[in-house]
Amino acid sequence: MANVLDIQGLSKRYKSVQALDQLSISVPEGSIYGLLGPNGSGKTTTLGIVLDVINPTAGTFQWFGQPLSKETKRRIGALLETPNFYPYLTGLQNLKIVADIKRVDHSQVQTVLETVGLANRQHNDFKGYSLGMKQRLAIGAALLGNPEVLVLDEPTNGLDPEGIAEVRELILNVAKQGKTILLASHLLDEVEKVCTHMAVLRAGHLKAEGPVGTIMSAHDLVIINGGAP
Ligand code: ATP
Repeated sequence: MANVLDIQGLSKRYKSVQALDQLSISVPEGSIYGLLGPNGSGKTTTLGIVLDVINPTAGTFQWFGQPLSKETKRRIGALLETPNFYPYLTGLQNLKIVADIKRVDHSQVQTVLETVGLANRQHNDFKGYSLGMKQRLAIGAALLGNPEVLVLDEPTNGLDPEGIAEVRELILNVAKQGKTILLASHLLDEVEKVCTHMAVLRAGHLKAEGPVGTIMSAHDLVIINGGAP
């Protein structure tokens, strides 16, 4: 199977902090790939670099076997931080605004609302949405443009248990549509439940990479969890 993303020897230094040190990983097409590590292990830095918002100190990466370009960027949808939606506009209106910004046809908005399970609540104000619904709308915004890859940074952070379950189910459903998903998480159980492949990061170093089942059976959980509770 081809890789959607290949990273070779990626390093990032912020003054005295070595946030990433020679990271090399590959995200297979069709996988749900979890970047697992405690806070400060370099997950956000990795995603920022491959999305072209942070400059690496060293190393290279290719999306779809090519350097990042306008063309390849169009094939990637990302949610690094929950966007600010308009509280007194409906879910539908908010997504139409995002569609305009992304120069995506409004006809895609209905499809996305169905994918994220909000078609029946599309005429309700964003303000009244539950935490899970708000996050699903944010993932919907990332799905506008019909990207082949969805990149999510800590997608269940700050959600209540219901919202966590909804977002995890949505991730699985999006993957069933054939999209590749790259997500960062500090939660071992999240990666175990949702992901097919994983990389374990600690203090900017890669500790292990491979199919989730293989990694879980081959490594001590304390090592995987970075000793975090
Ligand atoms: P978190 O979940 O807390 O964001 P993370 O695994 O995503 O953790 P990063 O945010 O990539 O980790 O941070 C890796 C290291 O780099 C940390 O020690 C962090 O403090 C440091 N760092 C990140 N951004 C900057 C910055 N702009 N300036 C200085 N240091 C930074």
